Amino acid sequence: KAKKEGTGKVVVFAPQMHAEALARLTLTSDLQRALAHGEFRLQYQPLIRLADGATAGVEALVRWRRPDGRYVAPADFVPMAEENGLIMDIGRWVLLEAGAQAARWRETMPDLHLNVNVSGRQLTDPGFAADVRLMLTEFRLPPTAVTLELTESVLMNDPAGAIARLTDLKALGVRLAVDDFGTGYSSLSYLQRLPVDELKIDQAFIPHAEPTAEDLAVIRAVVEMARALRLRTVIEGIETEAQLAAMRRLGCDLGQGFHLCRPADPERLLSPVAA
Ligand code: C2E
Ligand code: MG
Ligand code: MG
Ligand code: MG
Repeated sequence: KAKKEGTGKVVVFAPQMHAEALARLTLTSDLQRALAHGEFRLQYQPLIRLADGATAGVEALVRWRRPDGRYVAPADFVPMAEENGLIMDIGRWVLLEAGAQAARWRETMPDLHLNVNVSGRQLTDPGFAADVRLMLTEFRLPPTAVTLELTESVLMNDPAGAIARLTDLKALGVRLAVDDFGTGYSSLSYLQRLPVDELKIDQAFIPHAEPTAEDLAVIRAVVEMARALRLRTVIEGIETEAQLAAMRRLGCDLGQGFHLCRPADPERLLSPVAA
């Protein structure tokens, strides 16, 4: 069960490691099949303007429906797709699919905004900006109607590289958001130098159904900092009326969360008749 490496280090292959390796291989081939057979779908979650309750935009969220009908959450396949590189193709599909849907919606809701999640691997892909440009031209979307969301951890991983890549994307005219803000390790001085437009404050900041004074103090500080940096703020994960009311009072610009609207299939969302 143990194998000697050249260095004399002993590596133990536990049976469980074998099972893990196998599971990873299976997941990779399943993801390849999913791409080829169209098993991915997008759901959309509205971004609500807290001042007046209007729907400012929607965030596209990828879903994987396996042939047996089981859904796999992005947290359970995006990391693997990043590792094996399939996120490039999945991400391109997401961009074009979301772009097409946004264009359809904008026929009746011309101000509707689209947010798309972008993985770290996509950001480093030299062809990514071209993909974004293709999406904009193909569906005649004004660049300012599209926000690309990048997680804080991705941006802080390679700050200098991120600035260069974000600058290329900004040149297309799209908007950029820091996603899951507060879960990574942002250097605040660094944040100031990123060409971003929006801060998405992670739901970890509102852990209580009734926000405590401490919760509020921390979020207020973040919102004030964002305002000083002229960044629009979005608070994620609003699940209760009390949280909604508190975020509105703090002057957070936009909100997202199950209490406002759960992610839903596009046919079920924002149909102009229902609106
Ligand atoms: P995210 O971009 O921060 O998206 C927000 C996540 O929080 C979504 O989970 C959403 O369903 C969930 N959420 C929304 N409101 C609430 C709430 O009130 N309470 C709670 N507990 N959760 C709420 P989802 O769809 O499972 O996505 C998880 C993550 O996977 C996303 O986090 C994003 O980082 C990633 N992801 C999703 N779609 C894509 C994609 O197309 N491309 C890439 N690269 N990543 C994606
Ligand atoms: Mg996001
Ligand atoms: Mg987020
Ligand atoms: Mg999040």
